[in-house]
Amino acid sequence: MDCIFCKIVEGTIPSKKVFENDSIVAFYDIQPSAAQHVLIIPKKHIATMNDVATEDLPLIGEIHQTAQQIAKDLGIAESGYRLINNCGPDSGQVVFHIHYHLLGGEKLGALVGTRD
Ligand code: 5GP
Ligand code: ZN
Repeated sequence: MDCIFCKIVEGTIPSKKVFENDSIVAFYDIQPSAAQHVLIIPKKHIATMNDVATEDLPLIGEIHQTAQQIAKDLGIAESGYRLINNCGPDSGQVVFHIHYHLLGGEKLGALVGTRD
């Protein structure tokens, strides 16, 4: 399958990993949007939030637990952080392998929509 995040999972595209276990990989975003910007992905290819099945729910929980641990490891657990999933065209999702952006390390801007 032609998916850049599957290739990162396989190691055929290099990445700067901060965490890996049997089901999850986390690595620094190549184009950071904050002082700390990590992407957390399941090794299983799930295209978008819309494709998460009931059987995947433990994995989604594990991703949240991983975010908690990475925030601690990066020293931003107390200063705060944001965990974001983009789903589909209006969100601007560009990589169709589900991923969660973990952002922090500085005061973040307001959540961006089109309204004040
Ligand atoms: P999306 O807009 O789909 O939610 O976010 C995709 C993210 O993946 C972007 O923040 C982009 O910078 C990041 N990205 C795209 N290609 C690569 C890559 O090859 N390596 C890494 N580390 N990040 C990538
Ligand atoms: Zn994939």
